[in-house]
Amino acid sequence: MTSAITVALGERSYDIHVGSGLLSRAGHILRPLLAAPKVFVVTDENIEGLHLEALKESLDDAGLDNHGVVLPAGEQTKSFPHLESLLDAMLEARCERGTTIIAFGGGVIGDLTGFAASVLLRGVPFVQIPTTLLSQVDSSVGGKTGINTRQGKNLVGSFYQPRAVLADIDVLSTLPPRELKAGYAEVVKYGLIDDPAFFDWLETRGVAVVAADAQAGRQAVLTSCRAKARIVAADERESGQRALLNLGHTFAHALEAEGGYGELLLHGEAVSIGMVLAFDLSVAMGLCPAADRDRLVRHLHTVGLPVCLPPLPGGEWSVERLLAHFGKDKKVKDGRVTFVLARGIGQAFLSPDVPAATLKNVLDAAI
Ligand code: NAD
Ligand code: ZN
Repeated sequence: MTSAITVALGERSYDIHVGSGLLSRAGHILRPLLAAPKVFVVTDENIEGLHLEALKESLDDAGLDNHGVVLPAGEQTKSFPHLESLLDAMLEARCERGTTIIAFGGGVIGDLTGFAASVLLRGVPFVQIPTTLLSQVDSSVGGKTGINTRQGKNLVGSFYQPRAVLADIDVLSTLPPRELKAGYAEVVKYGLIDDPAFFDWLETRGVAVVAADAQAGRQAVLTSCRAKARIVAADERESGQRALLNLGHTFAHALEAEGGYGELLLHGEAVSIGMVLAFDLSVAMGLCPAADRDRLVRHLHTVGLPVCLPPLPGGEWSVERLLAHFGKDKKVKDGRVTFVLARGIGQAFLSPDVPAATLKNVLDAAI
């Protein structure tokens, strides 16, 4: 069964299709949306071996003229050199204004491809077919695209909405368990922001979601996409409430930067720890009952996500160094960092007024 959720953005509105077996129907779902029958598929070498054939068959069946490129897997692909070679490949394949670019992969492929589509010929249509839990519930929806630079992650990019998102739950069955769990942290985030009933549901079904149960996965992806679609439609450019989606992320980005964006912490794992730190901070400021923080820790622990900082190989975590990263956050305005705090599970809010001493105490206790 397939469900569709609309991201309501006026003329640029689009549907997120969520369901099983979508890959084999992708060509027929997309065909009516395309200006011309030519598509260019961007994927990575891991997905190539697992799912590319199924997608190509479906595009062929729908009579689409398909071209494409396979990029190396991993965060380093979200870079200027790969952007350049991707744009070259698109131009060499004679992509035109009416050619639709298909991002077929996780957040790395989605972010890079969306950015390339936004600048190729001053903008060509693109579609997201996300293949990781993280990309299905978060990065494929909402139009944030971009690459990393020497100065930091996601500092160069654009807001550029896809024409459609196709989230096929079945592809998650090949995802390494560690990646699936990491994506699950972003699912928990939606419960924490404003949906306590979803958090209750996750407490019973979360274990099934991280075990790649298709029915639980479908429900988790649907609820998460509904939440993201609603938030993005209300605040596309993040001038206000969209920033709630950064719950745990100010901490997470600092941990990822210090950990070297490597094997130490995947993004979702850093978000898991970051959400706990955001609740620690809320408790320390007297805003949130400690019982809600403990409930969050219990749940993350139950599904196998980290809730405290792992040992830093070859060194020690430093509060000063972590604090220094906060100042570099994209969301800093007039030198002030806006934190996402919570009055409890499902009651997140934005606060630019976090006392420096409390923040330091929370980090001191965490390292
Ligand atoms: P990823 O794209 O690197 O994928 C993780 C790994 O899983 C890769 O090795 C990939 O090859 C592999 N893989 C993907 N699908 C698979 C499948 N079905 N079966 C087996 N292996 C598969 O990472 P990700 O976690 O999907 O995305 C992380 C990126 O997303 C980061 O760069 C982050 O900045 C970005 N992001 C963007 C947004 C946004 O709003 N644009 C939001 C959150 C995160
Ligand atoms: Zn995230």
